[in-house]
Parts: sequence; C-alpha cells; structure tokens
Amino acid sequence: MFSMRVLWSRLPSVTGALTVRPPSSLARIAQRVSATTFHSRDTSIDYPDAGGSPEYKSMYQRSIDDPDTFWGLAAKKHLLWERPYDITSSVFLEEGFISWFHGGKLNASVNCVDKHIKLRANATALIWEKDEPGQEERITYHMLLSKVCRMANTLRRAGVRKYDVVTLYMPTMPEAVYAMLACARLGATHSVVFAGFSADGLAARINSSNSTHVITVDEGVRAGKILPMKKTVDEAVAKCPSIKQVLVCKRTGNPVPMGPIDLDMNLEMKNSRPYSTAEVMSSEDLLFLLYTSGSTGAPKGIAHSTAGYLLYASMTHKYVFDYKEGDVFAFFGDLGWITGHSYGVYGPLMNGGTSVLFESTPAYPDYGRFWETVERLKINQLYTSPTAIRLLLQQGDEWVNKYDLSSLKTLGSVGEAINPEAYNWYRDVVGKGRCSIVDTWWQTETGGIMISPLAHDKDTKAGAATRPFFGVIPSILDPNGNELEGNDVEGVLAIKTAGPGMARTIYRQHERFLETYLKPFPGYFYTGDGAKRDKDGHIWITGRVDDVLNVSGHRIGTAELEAEINSHPLVAESAVVGRHDDIKGQSVFAYVTLMQGTKHNDPAAEADIVTDLKKRISAKIGGFARPDNVICNNDLPKTNSGKIMRRILRKVAAGEYTEIGDISTLNNPDCVANLIEKRKKMD
Ligand code: ATP
Ligand code: MG
Repeated sequence: MFSMRVLWSRLPSVTGALTVRPPSSLARIAQRVSATTFHSRDTSIDYPDAGGSPEYKSMYQRSIDDPDTFWGLAAKKHLLWERPYDITSSVFLEEGFISWFHGGKLNASVNCVDKHIKLRANATALIWEKDEPGQEERITYHMLLSKVCRMANTLRRAGVRKYDVVTLYMPTMPEAVYAMLACARLGATHSVVFAGFSADGLAARINSSNSTHVITVDEGVRAGKILPMKKTVDEAVAKCPSIKQVLVCKRTGNPVPMGPIDLDMNLEMKNSRPYSTAEVMSSEDLLFLLYTSGSTGAPKGIAHSTAGYLLYASMTHKYVFDYKEGDVFAFFGDLGWITGHSYGVYGPLMNGGTSVLFESTPAYPDYGRFWETVERLKINQLYTSPTAIRLLLQQGDEWVNKYDLSSLKTLGSVGEAINPEAYNWYRDVVGKGRCSIVDTWWQTETGGIMISPLAHDKDTKAGAATRPFFGVIPSILDPNGNELEGNDVEGVLAIKTAGPGMARTIYRQHERFLETYLKPFPGYFYTGDGAKRDKDGHIWITGRVDDVLNVSGHRIGTAELEAEINSHPLVAESAVVGRHDDIKGQSVFAYVTLMQGTKHNDPAAEADIVTDLKKRISAKIGGFARPDNVICNNDLPKTNSGKIMRRILRKVAAGEYTEIGDISTLNNPDCVANLIEKRKKMD
C-alpha cells in the first residue's frame, strides 16, 4: 500500500512540472469530444469510492492531465441531457470567457428531481428540521416533483419567463427549495437573499439584479422569534420598480396584508397541475446568482451556470463527504448562503440524496439542538461553520455527550479557517475520534469545494485545508505573480484554470469580474486569500490577503495568530487586525471574546487574560507578533454566515469611526458601537 503522505509530498513537484495548455489554444477547442454520439439516460450515482485511497492521486492526476476527458466522462454519467454537448470546455481566463459543455441542453430541476423518479420516487429528498424541534417533515422525490411543478405552473401564470431574475426571500424551508427548482424549471435565474436582511439590503439586491418577481413567506420563525418577512418585502418592493408580482408562501399562517401585486402561493399551487414542462436550457445559461457575504466590501452578484455548476456540486458532495445512497446529509446553515445552495440543495439532490434543511439555530431551544437533531434524524454527514463549532465548544461537552451521535461518519467545516482547538473538539468530542473531518475551503465564486481532504483521508492536520479537489490547481504566488514551487512556501492563493463549477461573471458587471478576479494575476483566478504549502505539501489557508499583517517586516496571517489566541482556555473567539504604527509599520490589534462564564467588563480578570495572551504569543510565535492592544467584548461583528468582518475591526482599531463602511450584511450591528466605546477609552 502506498502511504498518502509519501504520494502527496511529491505532488507539488508534479504539479509544478505540469504545463496547463493555454486555454486559448486552438488544439483545445478543436478537441471535440465524441459527445455527439451519446445521449445519456444513466441515473446511477455509483461513483467509485475514492475517498482517502491512493485512487485519489490517480484521479487527480487524470483530472489535471486531461480535464476534458475527466469532466466529459463525469458529465455524461451524472447529468441528464436533453441534447448532448459538442465542446467540453473553452476557457480564456484572461477575458473571463469560461464555457463548459457548449451545445448541451438540459434542465436543472429535471436533473435534481425527475431524474430520480424511476429509481427512488419514494426515497426522502428533504427533511425539514423546523425551528420547533421534533416536528420534522419529510418530502419524497415524488412529492418534490409535484410541488416543484405546481410552483412552476404558478410562477408561469404570474408572468415569470425564461431569463427573468426571481428574488427569493425565504427561511430555510422546503418551499424555498421548490422555488429554486421551479425557477430552474422555467429557465428563470434565482437570486436567494438571506432572510435576515433588512428592507434596504433586500431592495439593493433586487435592484442590482433587476428582478421581476419576489417569492417570500408571511412570516419567518427563528429561535422562537417571529420575523415579519412579508412586511420587509413590502417595504423593499416599494423601492424596486422592476417588481411585477410578489408570491407569498405560508410559514406561520398568521394573516398578513396582501396588496394588488401579491399572490397567495399556497392557494395558487393547490389549483395548479402537478406536472409542468421544463424549459430546455443551454449548459451555459445561468442557473442562479448569489451575492457574496460582503466580508471584504460591497457584495458581488456572483453568477453560476447550469451544467458545469450542477456537475461540480454533485461531484464534490459525493467525494468530499463520501456520500452514499441512503445517507442523511445535513448542512446546518442557511440556504441563502452558497453552502446552502451547493450542499443543501443541488449537490444532494443531484445525487439522489436526503438533505436536511435546518431552519433553527445551534442555541435553540438550548445548546444541545444540533446534537439532538443528529440523534433524532440519524444524520450521517454534518456540515457547518467554525463559528457554530466554537460557540458549542464554549458550552461544554455535556451537551454533546447527552446524545447518541453514532450515526455520524463525516464532519465538515466551511466559511472560515478552523482553529486547531475547534478542529480537535469537533473530531474528538463530536466525532468521538472515529469520523472523518473535512475542512473545506471554497468561495461563492468557486461554486463548490476546491481544497479539502476527502472523507477517510488519514493524512490530515488540524487546521489545514489539505489538498485540491479534482481539476483544481492551487497556485501560491509571490506579490509579483511568480509561482512559488515546491513545499514550505507561503503567498497568495490563485487558481490556475477554471473548472466547470467556477463563476462565470458578476451579474451585469463583467468588467468588475475581470478586475476583481482575473486581472490581478493574468492567467489565474485570484482568490483574495493567502495560503501556504507546508513541508508535507498540505495547503493551509492563512486568511484574507487584505488581512495579512506586516509587523516590523514580518508578514503574518490572521489565522495563525487567532489560532494561538483561541487556544487559551478562557478565550472563545478572536479576530486580529493590523493598526498603523510609525515604527513597526503595523502593530497587532486583537479582539477577543471570552468563554461563557468568564466576565467581560471585569477589568482585573480581563487584564490577567490579556497579559497571558501576550506572553503566549511571544513564546509561541515571536515577540514581534505580540499584540499591542487587546479589546475583550462579548461579541464580534459577523456576517450572516458567521464570518468575522475584520475590515470593520481594522477601522475601529485605526480610530476611523466615521469610515466603518458598508455594514448592511452585518448580522449584529449593535456590537460595533460597543467596540468603538472600548476603543475610545484606549486613547
Ligand atoms: P466577500 O467576497 O463579499 O468579501 P466572503 O468572501 O466572506 O464575502 P464567501 O464567498 O461566502 O464570501 O466566503 C468565501 C471566503 O471564506 C473565502 O475566500 C475564505 O476567505 C473564507 N473561507 C471559506 N472556507 C474556508 C476554510 N475552510 N478555511 C479558511 N477560509 C475559508
Ligand atoms: Mg470573497
């Protein structure tokens, strides 16, 4: 048996030697696949079991050596085509010309639903884990088909046409999935806006996408609290001239005012035929657009294609998590986030799987919620964010140990770097040391997981995203754009090539797409993140490039400093930013949240912890990295997907209180005022 470590440690030199054919090469375009000869109706999901085996290495190599054959075979096997494609890929990265499976015709809702009717009509497609625990609802593929068709017919009557953009402002519930798939059935592009946004945040996204319709609910429910969603839509739509009709689904059933452009979706669906024809779409037609989290600036309306995205979401779902038919897969997060799209809806449904839609929060009705749900629904793969893991870690192991978690096989993390302490807790306390942990790095822009171990992979390290998925060439560049080859290198992470799942544009802002991702390093897709490849060839994400600190000439990523601070037993979470310093260039400014039960605002207790933290960093990383300032607060500013917004913390550290910037995507804007108050006291 080969050891994965041995194999992997050789990879950088292998990838270094690879010459990726220039995408513009005529040879590549001319390399037409014999696709015209097939018309696949194969609905099986039996991917070979590559997770963690030496097979990974050979599949990876094939995917790099000959991407067209690799993805072409996968597309033939896993997508249901109305018409086969003619050209597997044509990619001119510098112009943002990315096309996969040109000439192919298909429909996403047919691929996610109709495709399964023959083999698994009565299998569970969705389990809706409502905000109220213990009242889950199960939807079979057969039910899903009928609901999607009824909704598609309703939308058609309401005037939705191919290529219209439909905004969804809905809680995580089956109707949101019906709506996504109903749009796809009609060839309309969906744009899901997270249900926590204010009327202004929603209006900005509707206007930027020029949506014609909004689908919403009467009211949402989260952690027992009622959210007046229809009311928010009314306020938003008043500022959105493009909206023709608002369709309202039932969630609480409480009466809400209905105006002249409002339609009762449930009533309309009842009177609609449960069959609807599906528009025949081209591979490259847009399936959806989705705004990024806004961690680093104004959100971008990232647009994804149909065929390439579906294929990439299904392949990554299957391989990274080792999803097997009959498994129950749960993403504990919101559908309004790319992870909800790729691993709450499209990946699992493409694979004929069962996906849990989790409407609640990790703390409702108590800190055992995740674990009670795992036990009750017998969840096999659990996917969530480091911020949720850190929150639950703080509450103590008793909450986890109360429940039977023996169904769990793979535990995934996404959204931010997971610090080793949280990783170890996830592995040992939640996974009891017998589950695979997959720390998955990717972005809204990449459509699916790009760097992650595969389930069963033994050659992993706490905190490392580890290795690329099939077809991904992660390149580490120096500031001049030179590729840093070999191991033990650190720089900016860029992706050489654009695989099938990559974003195609920023909706109606292609120039911004080029400026943001493709012009910084010609020939590469620039991620905005920093990364290092360690001595064993494992990839670590070091944080956002904008967040990298330069202290007395030492460059240091936020992830490393934060991991060290978080390892303090009384620290729950932290965020580090740089502050201008005349002598050092930058000094380290740390924001810290203490463990439950540790008193914030108790100056003596805080001072002890701060002294301790400074000592630890000096000892473990070096005196240069010692924070000059530390603020303890019970909360840090976060996006709706739980990411810490360091750009706000940077402004607070700099004392630039009036230049905080766009905080519309902030989940907890109140905490900014507290931080400013504490910061002012330092002057
Ligand atoms: P915006 O692009 O608007 O600033 P955002 O980047 O937070 O928002 P997303 O696309 O949801 O929006 O997040 C992708 C980013 O999240 C990555 O670029 C990376 O910084 C971070 N990230 C995601 N997963 C991981 C991970 N496993 N390890 C480290 N960082 C991660
Ligand atoms: Mg981003």
